[in-house]
Amino acid sequence: SEAVFYRDTFAEVNLDCIAHNVHVIQSILRPNTRLMAVVKSNAYGHGAIPVAKVALDSGASYLGVATLDEAIQLRKGGIKAPILVLGYVSSAHVQAASDFNITLAVISPEHAKQLLQAVQLLPSSHLKVHLKIDTGMGRLGIRTADELRLELKILSHPGINIEGAFTHLAQADSGDLSYSVQQLEKANFLFGLLRQHVMYPEHLILHVANSAGILELPESHMNMVRLGISLYGVYPSRQVNRDRVRLQQALVLHSKIVYLKDVPAGTSIGYGGTFVAKRATMVATVPIGYGDGIPRSFSNHGFLTVRGQKCPILGRVCMDQIMLDVTKVRDVQENDIVTVYDHNTLEELSYIAGTIPYELLCAISPRVVRQYR
Ligand code: PLP
Repeated sequence: SEAVFYRDTFAEVNLDCIAHNVHVIQSILRPNTRLMAVVKSNAYGHGAIPVAKVALDSGASYLGVATLDEAIQLRKGGIKAPILVLGYVSSAHVQAASDFNITLAVISPEHAKQLLQAVQLLPSSHLKVHLKIDTGMGRLGIRTADELRLELKILSHPGINIEGAFTHLAQADSGDLSYSVQQLEKANFLFGLLRQHVMYPEHLILHVANSAGILELPESHMNMVRLGISLYGVYPSRQVNRDRVRLQQALVLHSKIVYLKDVPAGTSIGYGGTFVAKRATMVATVPIGYGDGIPRSFSNHGFLTVRGQKCPILGRVCMDQIMLDVTKVRDVQENDIVTVYDHNTLEELSYIAGTIPYELLCAISPRVVRQYR
């Protein structure tokens, strides 16, 4: 399904890279460990439905999203695989979760009570849940054995199926695994308790690892892992060892030079006159800006790549356009391709913007057409 578009700015998403990344990640998992493809936030900007389909075809068996809306969007896109909403969903939406067969996270005993009440009020509903455990993220989930016992008591109802439990690692990408190991000990303790309280403990789906956990801490794999950023071929951080698997970055963001001009020294470029040329400068105008999700903090700071050469951004990033210094690019011409993010530049640019690759990918706005190949 090729999109029709009339703009020189587009994101190319290579779905073969998604398949490759699932395969190489599976090669470092034990055979009985399932793989959840995390496709929240429009699959980190790549397009939720096409990414989900390829990930499932390549061996993923569960999908993870952040919201019930994201889950329902996948169902409406024809996806039948199990889907877990990792974030909080109000008990007011139990009917929708049940109708679309979406698995919810239980975040507290109070939430468990509310979910139970909703299930009791809706006799036709059937709810699949995973218990969220907070082992050190400080976000959602229970922390103690007492809370776990309480939740289990509340949730023992024929309309509720406790399919699994999970926790999230806060520092697995930091290069120091000591905090992750502590989290893992807490998780194992509470998972052990949970196993004692359910009829079929071997059926429980227990999961801890994000991409960094998958790559750095095999003990965190349990019987499912949640693959997010590395599904897209990006390493979670600079501290993570890259030798074990060779990921392929799926997304490249492109634009084009639409106008070239040679300006004399003293010429001011862009809003606010924050850049004034010190010498004669070849300036390229590129039709991409913060309305496409390019951080405005790249103003006078970031670079885009033309003919393999990093070209400084001149002045402020506009909503729809950026000006570049292409003086040093040999044979530069209008219509030359401008590479914004690719496997060579995404990480470096994220640090220049004071952020992480995750944020730059998620920020690519709906205006940017995704071209799949
Ligand atoms: N699990 C949960 C609960 C998450 O919130 C996320 C993403 O933030 C992931 C897994 C995937 O993490 P990553 O993209 O680092 O693999």
